[in-house]
Amino acid sequence: MRQKTFLLPTLRDVPSDADVKSHQLMLRAGMMRQTAAGVYTYLPLAKRVIAKVEAIVREELEAIEAQELTLPSLHPAELWQETGRWDKMGGELIRLKDRHGRDFALGPTHEEVITSIIRDAIGSYKKLPLNVFQIQTKFRDERRPRFGLLRGREFIMKDAYSFHGTEESLDETYQAMYQAYERIFTRAGLTFRAVIADSGAMGGKDTFEFMALAEVGEDTIAYSDTSTYAANIEMAAVLPEENEEATSSEPLQKATVTAALTIKEAAQQLEWPLSHTVRTVPVKLNDDEIVLLLLRADHELNEVKSIHELHVKSVSVLSEQEVEQAFNVEAGLLSALDQEGIRIIADQSLKGLSGILMNTATKDEVAIQVDPARDLKIDSYADLRTIQEGDASPDGEGTIQFARGIEIGQVFKLGTFYSDSMGATFLDQNGRANPYKMGCYGIGISRTVAAIIEQHNDENGIIWPVSVAPFDLHLLTLNSKNEEQVELSEQLYASLKQSGWDVLYDDRPERAGVKFKDADLIGMPIRVAVGKRAQEGFVELKVRSTGESLDVHVDDLAETIQ
Ligand code: ATP
Ligand code: MG
Ligand code: MG
Ligand code: MG
Repeated sequence: MRQKTFLLPTLRDVPSDADVKSHQLMLRAGMMRQTAAGVYTYLPLAKRVIAKVEAIVREELEAIEAQELTLPSLHPAELWQETGRWDKMGGELIRLKDRHGRDFALGPTHEEVITSIIRDAIGSYKKLPLNVFQIQTKFRDERRPRFGLLRGREFIMKDAYSFHGTEESLDETYQAMYQAYERIFTRAGLTFRAVIADSGAMGGKDTFEFMALAEVGEDTIAYSDTSTYAANIEMAAVLPEENEEATSSEPLQKATVTAALTIKEAAQQLEWPLSHTVRTVPVKLNDDEIVLLLLRADHELNEVKSIHELHVKSVSVLSEQEVEQAFNVEAGLLSALDQEGIRIIADQSLKGLSGILMNTATKDEVAIQVDPARDLKIDSYADLRTIQEGDASPDGEGTIQFARGIEIGQVFKLGTFYSDSMGATFLDQNGRANPYKMGCYGIGISRTVAAIIEQHNDENGIIWPVSVAPFDLHLLTLNSKNEEQVELSEQLYASLKQSGWDVLYDDRPERAGVKFKDADLIGMPIRVAVGKRAQEGFVELKVRSTGESLDVHVDDLAETIQ
């Protein structure tokens, strides 16, 4: 590709609105531009990387007999109503109406659509198992789109769905997908860990997240320094003691915190990731303590993930900014509480309510009451164990270490939630109708590209792993006014292309310094500079990752870069 006309608008300065490396570099390297908050245009350089990642994904999935299809992005509301997720998804689901006033959503995930297709398409155990996937743009109206491609509102996902007659069959495909994921992320050049995850709202039980290790990651991973144990901290924090009963199905847990602390600190002590929303509701005011219900909810607050009773001796007022955030989520919190059977019965404006969420301690200011019909008695609970770095691990081996991670993929055993609620059944050997057992498996393609950059960069720019680099070689003419240099460059460009190399050819009438800077910034694995020694047939070869450089005669070039 000739760079003179290639759409590659690089930037000298670090954009002020980009906080993390991958976001800054993707903007600076002319890979993308923001079109709306969380919505990006992928320029040609990014498109090439995306295509490489997608190709790896396709290869590894087809190797385990997964079949590619394309499901629509426009989903009729009726499908989502069948599973109840039309209501449950809350604000994350982007909804729209057609010209006849019918409700639709833009697909954030495709369990409903694929289940509706399989419901009508299979019917017999003889056709099972089935594993299908697609690579497609997904839409989620994320509360806080940020960090560029790491959390977009429109992003590319590979999503796969498997259908089975038996638990064993589901397990087999689940394992095969898990292993395919390991190969995919290894080939993409990522350092990652598979961690035990919280199945949260999906209703599944067996699930792992694949985490690219990176400081900017929103999740905290607790892992053992000597064994393979690794868990998302939200999972690690609630692991019950061995042989302790009655914890997992009991949503109400109790944690007593006696030190003076803010609610945010309390949540931190409980090791909840800050990406989760934590809200409190005071339920009792004693003389020397306030009893609060601490709610952990997903980003949208439409699903309460766990409820903890918290005894607090002294409470601080939150910062203005935190109050602002609390104010923004009130409506969601109310309906979430309602679903849990807790009704806010005080007649309060949102403003008053956020005053409460400031946790001001005087009785007069408590305007929330919990519906007395709600039975708050706790029959059995586990004291929440807070896992710290250096603790023994849950599997009995080694000690716990913490790391930050970016969720790049997840594998899920869904069971029969979707097939039950949507009536998707097949006939077994005995002619009996059974619901399909399902698995679902996601990879954030665009997020993976950003994660790769997070892990592969230096102060000068991106350092692409060969497997996903937009081009194999970056060919530079250092002085485009010099005829010999231009002539040699043109010859090399033609012959390298001829022998199958993907070459970006910097034929711009720019100074050498500018070209070198851009080459480092956009990070192709090998740079071939045609300069002063063109006359003798020598070019300078430089390896981006190591900085190693050497002069090579053009006759030896093919062999050297092989
Ligand atoms: P997160 O916890 O980060 O919100 P998720 O668990 O909601 O992600 P899944 O439903 O598991 O996401 O979707 C499959 C994959 O899609 C994720 O593992 C992630 O890599 C990617 N993904 C999810 N949300 C986004 C987003 N807003 N922007 C980019 N990629 C995303
Ligand atoms: Mg999410
Ligand atoms: Mg997640
Ligand atoms: Mg996930």
